[in-house]
Amino acid sequence: MTKLFIENVNLIDGTGSETINHTNVLIENGKFKSVNAAAAPHDAEVVDGRGQYMLPGMIDAHVHMMTEFKPLEERLTTPFSYNFYLAQQHLDRTLNAGITSVRDALGSDLGLKKAIDDGLVTGPRMQISINALTITGGHGDGYNYSGTVTDLMQPHPGMPHGICDGIDEVRKKTREMLRAGADVIKVHATGGVSSPTDHPKFTQFSLEELKVIVEEAQFRNGVKVMAHAQGLEGIRQCVEAGIHSIEHGIYMDDEICGKMKDQGTYLVPTLLAPVSVLEFADELGMSKAAIEKSEEVIQIHKESFTRAYNAGVKIAMGTDAGVFKHGTNLRELELMVECGMTPMDAITASTKTAAECLGYTDTGLVKEGYTADFILSKENPLENIGALKAHDNIQMVAKDGVIHKNIID
Ligand SMILES: [Zn+2]
Repeated sequence: MTKLFIENVNLIDGTGSETINHTNVLIENGKFKSVNAAAAPHDAEVVDGRGQYMLPGMIDAHVHMMTEFKPLEERLTTPFSYNFYLAQQHLDRTLNAGITSVRDALGSDLGLKKAIDDGLVTGPRMQISINALTITGGHGDGYNYSGTVTDLMQPHPGMPHGICDGIDEVRKKTREMLRAGADVIKVHATGGVSSPTDHPKFTQFSLEELKVIVEEAQFRNGVKVMAHAQGLEGIRQCVEAGIHSIEHGIYMDDEICGKMKDQGTYLVPTLLAPVSVLEFADELGMSKAAIEKSEEVIQIHKESFTRAYNAGVKIAMGTDAGVFKHGTNLRELELMVECGMTPMDAITASTKTAAECLGYTDTGLVKEGYTADFILSKENPLENIGALKAHDNIQMVAKDGVIHKNIID
C-alpha cells in the first residue's frame, strides 16, 4: 500500500466551500484517505506543503491534445507520425500546468488515451471524441477554395473523417466514432473562427440531424454530445436537441441562457481561444480570415459569458488548447474572473463542475474516497486568480496520487 502524507496545506477542495487552513492530507493507493489527518502514518512518504494552497487537479473540458496550430508550410512538411511524438510535449505541458484531466474535442485517438492509461506516456486523464462530426463545407471541413484540403487532423486508422450530411450519414458517422472508442461525441453545429469557408453565425447541422446524433449516442450507455456552437440559432437547435454541452457559446441571449439553466446544459466558454489567436497570430500561422473573425467576436463572446454566468448556467472550464499553446490553459480562469465570475466560482468551474460535465463521480474534488489528483499553488488563488497560470507558482502536480511535478522551493 502506498501512502503519501502532505502536511501543512491550505485546502480549497473544489466544492466552493471556504478554505480549510493548515491541514494535512493523507493519500492511500491513489485516493484521498483523509483531508484532515492528524499525523503521518509511519510508513507514509511525507511532503511538507509549506502552507501552500492545495486544490483538486484542474480539468479542461475542451482541448486538442494531438495538435497545436502551426503555420501551414510547417504543417505540410511535418511527417505524419512526428505528431504523435510531439503530442508527448503537449501532454507534459498540460500536466505541468496543473491540468490532470481533459476532454479532447477532436484529434486524439484511442491509442493516445490507452498509452496514458497504461503509463507508456505521461499525461492528463483523457476523455476523447475521436473526430468531430461536421457538414460538407462546415467548420471542420478543411477544403479550401483551391481544392486543396488542409484538415486539422489527417484521417488515419482509428481516426475516421468527420464529414457527414443528412440523417443516415450522421447516424452512421456517430456509430463510426463510437466504434473508434469515443467517450463523447463532438459535433460542429455552427461555423467557427478558424475555418476557411464559413462564419461563427452559420447554422450547420439541422435540428433533425442533431436529434439523431444525440439519440444514437444515448443508445450507447448514455454517451453525451458536445457541440461546437457559436451562433444563436445553432445554439438554440443544440439545446432543443438535448446536447450536453455548448462549446464556445459566443452569441447567447437571455432566453437561451434561461433554457440552458432549466435544462442543465453546460457551457464550456473557451474565452482564451480568440484572445490567444490574436496574441499569437503570426507564430501560430493564423489565416487572415481567422484573425478577422476573432476580432469580430472577442467582445461579444465575453458579454455572452457574463450573461450565462449571471443567469446561473452551469459553466465548465474549457479552453480550446491546441488552437493555441498547450500549457497556457489556466489563463482561462483569469479571463472568467475579468468577465465577472468570482475567483471561487472560477475554481469550481475548473474542478467540480467540469468533473460533472465529464460525468466523473469520484474525480474533481479533494475529498475522502476521491481520486488523488491535486495541485499545490504557492499563492492564494482566491486573492490572485492569475497566479494559477504561472508554472513556477504551481509547485506540485499529482495524478492518481503519483507526483508528476515537484518544484517546492
Ligand atoms: Zn476546439
